[in-house]
Amino acid sequence: FFWWKHLENAPPDSILGIKKIYNMDKNPNKVDLIVGAYRDANGKPVILPSVLEAEKMIEKKYTDKEYAPISGLPQFNQLSAQLLLGPDSSVLCNQLNATSQTVSGSGALYVSGKFMAQFFPGNTCIYLPQPTWANHEAIFKFVGLEVAWYRYCDPKVSKLDFEGLMDDINKIPEKSIAFFQGCAHNPTGVDPSQEQWCEISQLVKKRQLFPVFDVAYQGFASGDFYNDAFSFRTFLQDGHKVAILQSYSKSMGLYGERTGSCTFIADCKSEADTILTQMEEIIRKTYSSPPIHGSRIVVEILADENLKYMWFQEVKMMSERLKAMRNALKENLEKAGSKHNWDHIVHQIGMFCLSKLTPKQVKKLTDDYHIYLPADGRISVAGLTTKNVQYVANAIHEVTK
Ligand code: PMP
Repeated sequence: FFWWKHLENAPPDSILGIKKIYNMDKNPNKVDLIVGAYRDANGKPVILPSVLEAEKMIEKKYTDKEYAPISGLPQFNQLSAQLLLGPDSSVLCNQLNATSQTVSGSGALYVSGKFMAQFFPGNTCIYLPQPTWANHEAIFKFVGLEVAWYRYCDPKVSKLDFEGLMDDINKIPEKSIAFFQGCAHNPTGVDPSQEQWCEISQLVKKRQLFPVFDVAYQGFASGDFYNDAFSFRTFLQDGHKVAILQSYSKSMGLYGERTGSCTFIADCKSEADTILTQMEEIIRKTYSSPPIHGSRIVVEILADENLKYMWFQEVKMMSERLKAMRNALKENLEKAGSKHNWDHIVHQIGMFCLSKLTPKQVKKLTDDYHIYLPADGRISVAGLTTKNVQYVANAIHEVTK
């Protein structure tokens, strides 16, 4: 009997599929602007010095590879919640947070999504910004939530559509779920201003929506962890009970270590304890318990003031290199003689630049110049270096003439 003969290929991942084709390209000038992973000035992946230091400490300290508890290392959860909410947060003082380690940000999306699909007492429809990272829609549908959209940013204009956003959020049925990216929005590089976040918070309150924040780029937007926590800390100050999904992939460069967390804020400590037991139930049935190496690294760094300071400086340095590459790309486009307005490249923030290139232009960049990026024109700015930025700018100029 042929058990799997009926099976057809699943569609390739829109981003990782391109990376596969890039890997097969033998052209020495090829440029990878695909995946949102940091690269140094030579285009190479980095292990942060603070992480290397933490790994040395781990080697000395631990003599086991025992299982972590279902919800991860307690100290990791405590320190991660502190990084998000601030050390003096009243939520933490009153133990209102149900925080569990997860298999990175994607795992946090899954666990929170499953939890909401099962237990959210309102309308189990989650409203996402249009556009957003493709896996948001995929994971939330996969776990059984309905997905709908609110206007966020028109890629052709590359500006926050604040009116559209407020208008759409105002129409979301009461007691639904509103999803936000905490900072450095992927793929647009466009965030609301602090004043706009305050207005959004008030509206979300008025509509009685449950706010969920995906925080995959804390530190990458402004180079500062405190500034980049403005959105969800404002919501908390305004009295919202939020969920926060955290990833250390980008901020600590722990991509393959799969390190992140999922936090729900409760009304009282006993509610937080109950939420945690239900998150544990989901995790137990999904992957039993999380990996330990990444969370041990996070603990070593966050529990040591010197290492933590070192890490903050490293994140600042990464965000500054990204900013410098944005400036260099714009300058080189102008030097190449492009008559288009490329201001959006430097106005956008974080790891990505939604370039306004059309799918046809992107295809030409790849076919003629071996420059790879997703069809929506999203450039992972980390793939630019002082060595390739002129080549990329000239090629973009050629395809946009
Ligand atoms: N959220 C956003 C907005 C992202 O861009 C990503 C990674 N591309 C993630 C979550 C999840 O990443 P990870 O699973 O590596 O933490």
